[in-house]
Amino acid sequence: PEAEIGLIGLGVMGSNLALNIAENASTIAVANRTTEKVDAFHAEAGALKDRIVPCRSLEALVGAIRAPRPIIIMTKAGAAVDEQIAALRPLLQAGDIIIDAGNANFHDTVRRSKELEDSGLTFIGMGVSGGEEGARHGPSIMVGGTAEAYQRVEPMLKAIAARFEGEPCVAHLGADGAGHFVKTIHNGIEYADMQMIAEIYGIMRDGLGMAPAEMADIFARWNEGPLNSYLIDVTAKTLAAKDAETGGALVDQILDSAGQKGTGRWAAIEAQMIGVAATTIESAVAARILSAMKAEREAAEQVFGPIELLDASIDRAGIIDQLEQALLAAKIAAYAQGFAVMAGASADHGWDLPLATIARIWRAGCIIRSQFLDEIAATFEAESGTANLLVTPRFSAMMRDSSVGLRKIVALSATSGIPTPALSAALAYYDTYRQARGTANLIQAQRDFFGAHGFERLDGSGPHHGQWNA
Ligand code: NDP
Repeated sequence: PEAEIGLIGLGVMGSNLALNIAENASTIAVANRTTEKVDAFHAEAGALKDRIVPCRSLEALVGAIRAPRPIIIMTKAGAAVDEQIAALRPLLQAGDIIIDAGNANFHDTVRRSKELEDSGLTFIGMGVSGGEEGARHGPSIMVGGTAEAYQRVEPMLKAIAARFEGEPCVAHLGADGAGHFVKTIHNGIEYADMQMIAEIYGIMRDGLGMAPAEMADIFARWNEGPLNSYLIDVTAKTLAAKDAETGGALVDQILDSAGQKGTGRWAAIEAQMIGVAATTIESAVAARILSAMKAEREAAEQVFGPIELLDASIDRAGIIDQLEQALLAAKIAAYAQGFAVMAGASADHGWDLPLATIARIWRAGCIIRSQFLDEIAATFEAESGTANLLVTPRFSAMMRDSSVGLRKIVALSATSGIPTPALSAALAYYDTYRQARGTANLIQAQRDFFGAHGFERLDGSGPHHGQWNA
């Protein structure tokens, strides 16, 4: 056998990952359900052709790899992965490693790990982020499985991962589903980041009447400051892009209805299951759902009428500065929520998710990569037991300053009817989290009134019941 590793699934991600492995790690055997794609892929591999072994069946694939064989499955998530595992099992030997690198639901990864536990095979669930470009030139890789399994694939993964200041963006994050869970939360944060940026764009477009090219310049400028990140850069570039047909801004020709494959939704669902408030992520998921209801929104605008631009005499430069602050404050809240979900999952699922390491491997390669994550990594390194990013010295100081802008922007949007679901959720989270005396005493009173649920008293004694009808 010529290859040291195999890969099944030559779609967008699989073909790029295979080229990355061939170039930076080892000779790779590849297979795909539609076999014509294997030949086409090999034919187009250029200088890497000799490092790729095209295989027209799983038998050929297994036969082409030296044992013990690591085999990556990079197909559509769900049933396709179960089918590939079932087809591979009789062909493999004890010691071989199956690596699911797609966007699996982590519950499936936990189940698959259990199913393969006594088979002699090793199973790794691996989250890969960075899209097409990341897969080809260096993704961020989140690994779940046994420590021993990770050790066996670590050199290969380090060779293909993105690097942040020389450090590879790959780590073992815990047993079974830990890697896919962290990828899920990554995607939830990604949804929040994108939604918050879109809301800022909405204020610029519908409140300030700005043209895309003008906005592109502002996002490009913000990319030089504390918001510096891949997504801000992508925003500046997409806003600047021209439409070949009309000559106008391309973004103006795109239907305002966003798709989703469900990983952001899983993040919101898991947060709820664990009992951690991730309201900014939830709002971002809900906003995508509402975005897809184009016809209903058009009908509703007929009922309620359109919103109006802000008064032209408004201090535009001042608002643009506040928008930058608002985005930063909301980003802090969104990341605080995402990391709180991961901390909660550690307790719930028996993982010990290394929060500083997660922030470190997200600094390059993945979609949410940013300078900001370097600061999060440093914060969790300095304060490993921290309850919430919001209250750490570094982020509380940033929040104190930037929340002023967030508050002004949310207030301005609310009074003018511009929707800011994620920004508003971030502000409400911050205000609720920092309020020592909340209002749930009334909720407890109501619950006791109608359901005799009982309540604790402030003096610590309890449970008590009120004499509500006396
Ligand atoms: P593509 O649609 O480009 O490719 C899908 C691949 O899955 C093809 O090779 C296809 O084979 C194969 N496949 C689909 N169904 C089956 C089946 N029932 N049995 C066997 N093979 C099957 O998808 P992507 O490359 O974009 O995504 C692959 C995985 O990576 C997914 O889990 C996705 O969520 C995840 N991912 C995607 C990212 C992205 O930016 N696109 C980023 C990170 C993760 P065939 O050619 O025969 O149809």
